[in-house]
Amino acid sequence: MNHDDLNLWSKRAADWARDYHATLRDRSVRAPLVPGAVAGQLPPNPPETPEPMEAIFDDFARIVPPGITHWQHPRFFAYFPANAAPASMLAEQLANAIAAQGMIWQTSPAVTEIEQVMIQWLRQSLGLPDGFTGTIHDSATTATFSAVLTMREKALAFQGNLTGLSGQPRLRLYASAEAHSSVDKAARIAGIGQENLVKIPTETGLSMKPGALAGAIAADRAAGMLPAGVILCAGGTSVGAFDRIGECIAVAHAAGLPVHVDAAWAGSAMICPEFRQMWAGIEMADSIVFNPHKWLGAQFQCAVQLLRDPTPQIRTLGLRPSYLETARKEDIVNFNEWTVPLGRNFRALKLWFVLRAYGLEGLRARIRNHVEWARGACEALRALPGVTITTEPRLSLFTFALRDEAATEALLARINDDGRIYLTQTRHKGAYVIRVQVGQFDCTREDVMMIPQVVAELR
Ligand SMILES: *Cc1c(COP(=O)(O)O)cnc(C)c1O
Repeated sequence: MNHDDLNLWSKRAADWARDYHATLRDRSVRAPLVPGAVAGQLPPNPPETPEPMEAIFDDFARIVPPGITHWQHPRFFAYFPANAAPASMLAEQLANAIAAQGMIWQTSPAVTEIEQVMIQWLRQSLGLPDGFTGTIHDSATTATFSAVLTMREKALAFQGNLTGLSGQPRLRLYASAEAHSSVDKAARIAGIGQENLVKIPTETGLSMKPGALAGAIAADRAAGMLPAGVILCAGGTSVGAFDRIGECIAVAHAAGLPVHVDAAWAGSAMICPEFRQMWAGIEMADSIVFNPHKWLGAQFQCAVQLLRDPTPQIRTLGLRPSYLETARKEDIVNFNEWTVPLGRNFRALKLWFVLRAYGLEGLRARIRNHVEWARGACEALRALPGVTITTEPRLSLFTFALRDEAATEALLARINDDGRIYLTQTRHKGAYVIRVQVGQFDCTREDVMMIPQVVAELR
């Protein structure tokens, strides 16, 4: 395959993509779960000689789609969305064609500079004050890990990276009981340890108790431990929990601790001013992560970390060996020094395309519709005998259950085998419940109202 063939096959791929998207509503959202069904169609050994692209493409079209859960299906209501707006797909195609590695400014100034401008566009879109800067990570998990490493190093006066953690005081982190597992992962792999991630219980409204946070920090200090930072939850994955951001940050800052806010899903909604009271006080955060790859239409990988002051993170993650030194040292940013990996692809291009192709008004309209339609679906479900709404909609996420756990679990299996919609489960207050989130880029009100219809039929 050469570049002329690539031109031909790119056009074939574009036609295939158009047909794929046009027929999504006719497909079962979730892939049939038959272990080995895909692997069994591939030969166990790699080819020794070149194969024609025709054969490769045919096999792709035959083998892959039946093994795909269609995340771009307009009736995908599982997990959180992983949207890929058409303008984002186009930008990714162009970024793939360029295939630049933007580890430092001079390895492609456009990659760094467009990223810097996009961070400022997003900062303004979320209503955050001047002064915040930031970078784009692959995932919220990596952004939270970076923030936790920075908390660790700040607490250790930047000696942990140099001397290791043995002999250091016992570091402590604080998060809500509703925090995402990426916070647990960060505590584990940052060398702090799961047992030193203190889960503060939540109260009504599912915020951690600010008083309990203050008490835990003080008790740990009295016991000779070293509190390092607080991770707050703005839109928990399970049922959409929000910590009371302003109050919790005030407690953390009074104790001299930095705060990272995980708004991976809900952050996108803050382009709508009417939702911003849900994270009131956010402008005091030291670090915030949100994923335009969830709800804003820019596909994987696009996790934006906003930082009030990037210096401690750069001090934690930045290294500048001689082979990475650059001709210019003033006024330039080398984004690898803000993140865990050295290499980085051109993630900002899709943001540039998406923000321009739909405009903030277009993106806000989608999010507002999703929130309103989720409420509509929730009310229709509430009206069904035997259905209980177990958590009310937070933005576009709510949960429901039938009278007993076995019946709820069996209903979810029937729904997902049916394939018209796709929902997933969580546990809330110990009970098995079905999660509904509305957020797919192309979904319509009719798609969303299919949820109560399917539940009514299959319950
Ligand atoms: C999805 C999610 C994450 C993890 O996101 P990745 O980008 O896949 O790492 C973290 N926190 C919350 C609240 C999430 O919803």
